[in-house]
Amino acid sequence: MTVDVLVVGAGLAGLHTATLLAQVGHDVLLVERRPSLSGAIRTTGIFVRRTLDDFPLPPECLGPPIRRVVLYPPGLHRPVTLVSARDEYRVGDMAPLYVTAARAAADAGVRIALGTRYAGRHADTFLLAGRDGHDGQVRVRARFVVGADGARSRVARDLALDRNHHLLVGAEEVFEIPSSKQPPAFHCVLDPSLAPGYLAWVVNDGRHAHVGVAGYADRFPDGLRNALEQFGATAPGLPGIDRPEDVERRGGPIPVGGLLRRISSVDGLLVGDAAGAVSPLTAGGLDPCLRLSELAASALDDALRSGRPDALSHYDGAALRARFRGRLMLRRGLAQVRTPATAATAFTLLRTPFGRAAARRILFGDGSFPDP
Ligand SMILES: Cc1cc2nc3c(=O)[nH]c(=O)nc-3n(C[C@H](O)[C@H](O)[C@H](O)COP(=O)(O)OP(=O)(O)OC[C@H]3O[C@@H](n4cnc5c(N)ncnc54)[C@H](O)[C@@H]3O)c2cc1C
Repeated sequence: MTVDVLVVGAGLAGLHTATLLAQVGHDVLLVERRPSLSGAIRTTGIFVRRTLDDFPLPPECLGPPIRRVVLYPPGLHRPVTLVSARDEYRVGDMAPLYVTAARAAADAGVRIALGTRYAGRHADTFLLAGRDGHDGQVRVRARFVVGADGARSRVARDLALDRNHHLLVGAEEVFEIPSSKQPPAFHCVLDPSLAPGYLAWVVNDGRHAHVGVAGYADRFPDGLRNALEQFGATAPGLPGIDRPEDVERRGGPIPVGGLLRRISSVDGLLVGDAAGAVSPLTAGGLDPCLRLSELAASALDDALRSGRPDALSHYDGAALRARFRGRLMLRRGLAQVRTPATAATAFTLLRTPFGRAAARRILFGDGSFPDP
């Protein structure tokens, strides 16, 4: 098979890039190792206001708007509540959202192969295999390959591009909850014994609860699973709601080292987590992956039309990365919160007007990803 572009990975980054390319007439093959887009989801799915304003996500796949964030120190005493005058977040119902995005891709002309793993490259041909590798391999010839294959990208390795080394790991449980009169809220707990270097969270939007923890893998005292179990037993924001027996489990790595510098070569490029396009501080990657995909699709369109070998060189992570500097500094600060006592001290600052204003800027601001 010969195509213009082979896109590896049907997360939001791959789906969006593939759709944009097909819409302008290119021949695109999108391969995804998962047999179904509704399984093995790796995100909570919190979309920020900026994404909701700029991208037409299907409203039926979005939960109720959230304006309230509650920040807790270790021990959960005297939390700080921040309420925005605007709708700040909505949680995506990710299974139908991915399926809807795949339908839009197919309608635009993208050929989608699920249960198909990218297994390596040989010059301008790429090897595709069944998920477990027993179904033999198929060779595809493509002018360009797009690595939308997540934080531990195989495509990045094969194109000799930069790779993510600074990673958090996160895990969460998701379950339906009965409706209540409580306003939808996002609860964040800063406790390094539960979430070393990041946060533990409960999102309760009145329809679903997401209870999760994330942090540096080697710093969880008893491992990620135990931390999640421990947090689930005392998690705030779910008054009178018992965790059901049957919950959906999600999890995965989160690159927080900032956008990678070398994200393109003459043979292809990286998007989404593969490119490190995640806010180093908030660990939000959905808005960045959509924005970077637009840039990637436009660079690939130029390259395919002009035929110039250097056409992808202006798809450059180094220039955009410079604008992550402030967030990278704050990430280093958060990584230094290693004991509950340090977290409690950070809360003393957070309770001041300056601390509250800074938290509002991070949580309710527009800094998810710099405009190219
Ligand atoms: C627990 C957790 C919670 C999160 N919550 C949020 C949140 O609420 N809001 C937010 O903004 N961000 C969140 N993030 C980050 C966000 O989910 C990611 O940044 C975003 O989903 C990245 O999208 P992507 O398309 O780049 O990668 P992915 O969604 O990871 O997609 C990569 C795809 O590539 C496929 N793939 C990998 N290797 C191959 C291969 N060899 N062949 C074929 N297919 C392959 C994978 O199966 C996968 O489907 C969270 C992350 C985690 C781990």
